[in-house]
Amino acid sequence: MRILCGTILAAAAMAAGAATPSAIALVPAPREQVWREGTCAFVEKDIRCVRDAALPPEGYRLDITPDGVTVASADDAGAFYARKTLKQLAWEGCNSIPCGTVMDWPAFKWRGVMLDEGRHFFGKEVVKHELELMADHKLNVFHWHLTECQGWRLDIQRFPELVKYGAVRPCSVAYGHTGLAERGDCVFNTEPYGPFFYTADDVREILAFAKERYITVVPEIEMPGHIRALLAAHPEFSCKGDLPRVPNVIHSIEEDVLCAGNNDAIRFMEQVYDEVCNLFPGACIHIGGDECPKTRWKECPKCQARIKALGLKDEDALQAWVTRHFTDYLAKKGRRAIGWDEVFAGNPGKETIIHGWHIQHGNKFGLLAAEAGHPTIVSDLKSTYFSLPQKTPDDPFTYLSPGTWLTLETAYSFDPFAGMSEKAKPHVLGAECCMWSECTWNIYDLDFKLWPRACAFAEALWTSPAAPRDFTDFSRRMAVHRKRLIAAHVNCAPLK
Ligand SMILES: [Zn+2]
Repeated sequence: MRILCGTILAAAAMAAGAATPSAIALVPAPREQVWREGTCAFVEKDIRCVRDAALPPEGYRLDITPDGVTVASADDAGAFYARKTLKQLAWEGCNSIPCGTVMDWPAFKWRGVMLDEGRHFFGKEVVKHELELMADHKLNVFHWHLTECQGWRLDIQRFPELVKYGAVRPCSVAYGHTGLAERGDCVFNTEPYGPFFYTADDVREILAFAKERYITVVPEIEMPGHIRALLAAHPEFSCKGDLPRVPNVIHSIEEDVLCAGNNDAIRFMEQVYDEVCNLFPGACIHIGGDECPKTRWKECPKCQARIKALGLKDEDALQAWVTRHFTDYLAKKGRRAIGWDEVFAGNPGKETIIHGWHIQHGNKFGLLAAEAGHPTIVSDLKSTYFSLPQKTPDDPFTYLSPGTWLTLETAYSFDPFAGMSEKAKPHVLGAECCMWSECTWNIYDLDFKLWPRACAFAEALWTSPAAPRDFTDFSRRMAVHRKRLIAAHVNCAPLK
């Protein structure tokens, strides 16, 4: 029988079926689920897969009967997600999964996790561990933040000095400290940190692993700010022309940025992006663009000469020129640039994807960008920055931002459309949660900060924003689901 996707059919099925047994705890919650008497003993090879073009992209219908399991989907990703639902149902053993029907598809096509490996380097096994967990929660974009003031983590074969100087610090911030100079919290260990970086082979291995899990990898190579590690390798591309040849150890917004008036610096970045494009086949390249102080540009003869030659108003207009140059450069190579929401101020091309992180606060560039028709990704810092402490009694990271919490309930209440006009909403691709790593040293910290909040985030993106959210029900399901995560050796934080 051909199964049509639609709420009327689903509602009829729901009415005919039994209530969801409390032991069934799917995360993210499916749109429609109906459970019947009986169980099914299934084995992987007995799953019957059929195509159903009427189902939405990435959607699936799962039919479980005593005779076996049938997966219907319009595409391979949908079949993959159906298996992830089965994995949760069968986590205690495959001999008695409940009979029923699940019909499901995602609300947003961009469901991402950003990982900063500039401040702390985790390595490919940790990345694979998190990619596996992302796939288990039907998240599909891995935004790989590979360059920072504190570390350059990608070997660019044409410029080997980038990792020679940029991937090692003489020491690191000691465990349990923030490394914020203004707070006086700068206790260092005495060990060199690194060299830590990914080779082209490492990247290809991660890309293959991600592809098998229907995850797109988006590399971020930041500029013109946040590049002190690049300038450790190539101080000639700073405005000063000479700098100590080590990346930053403390965490600050560094005033030394790419010299926008230096043609060699611009050409250098083009060649870096050439190699990045050759390595990463995805459609999008993140170029950063946030937090770029203009102090050096104001004093630099080359930058001032560029401003004069182009008839630009000021240094902000110079950054807009840099952004436009590289979004156009990538567009000529068939790629789409993504920039943090500061780049919107420079009026970039309409094809540029704006990554809003101030979206519900402060400058609202993300909101304005979606309003203006830019494809927009939402990473509201108050509800998706999982580097913040989560206010559980034993959260070891509470010292990081006393009084600034991002609780599980806040993560669950995240709505990518919050504050958006009807005109803006169609331009919202989806969202990313962000794992900055200034104070995240290893896999245990990373797991603790990501999970269970990323479960809540995944559900916020997968289910329709119009559907009612029930945190009590989510908490009930998470109490079961957390046991699955613990059993899978995930250092999942307590729920409260
Ligand atoms: Zn300059």
